[in-house]
Amino acid sequence: MHELSLVMNIVEICETEARRDGFSQIERIVLDVGTLSGVSVPALCFSFEAAVVGTVLESAELEIFEIQGSGWCIHCQKTVPLKDLLCSCPLCESGGVLPTGGMEFRIRELIVVDHQGKGGP
Ligand SMILES: [Zn+2]
Repeated sequence: MHELSLVMNIVEICETEARRDGFSQIERIVLDVGTLSGVSVPALCFSFEAAVVGTVLESAELEIFEIQGSGWCIHCQKTVPLKDLLCSCPLCESGGVLPTGGMEFRIRELIVVDHQGKGGP
């Protein structure tokens, strides 16, 4: 499953960050997922549940930030909304639309659990 390898990659990035910054748990993770990225959000959530066991993401809350697809229409000379990669321009109905947004898949935000035993100054 494609989504599982994406999640494994995310877990790896987080584990590396955790080692570098010295935190042990992530409280919340926000992912940017473009509607044209080919990533299935339900499959992603399912894979996440399975892949985070025993990692810094184990108790993290997963939030998905969906980015709508957009493209540049060479006929209209402007950015138009795109529902899928093969979609034609909603304004002039030509097929000459170059996708420019909505293919994202990346970590938008990581909220880390406060370091334990870190009182005082
Ligand atoms: Zn157009």
